[in-house]
Amino acid sequence: MRAKVKNGFQPKVCHTCNLEFEWRKKWAKNWENVKYCSKRCGGK
Ligand SMILES: [Zn+2]
Repeated sequence: MRAKVKNGFQPKVCHTCNLEFEWRKKWAKNWENVKYCSKRCGGK
């Protein structure tokens, strides 16, 4: 399944796993800076 536009935001591709992920409410304030689908993919 392809990620969909959520709440007007285009899906992004995770820099780690290369999977598309959809906008999430928790990222509402920093969506433009989100590069990873999850904390795990964010490293650390
Ligand atoms: Zn990922």
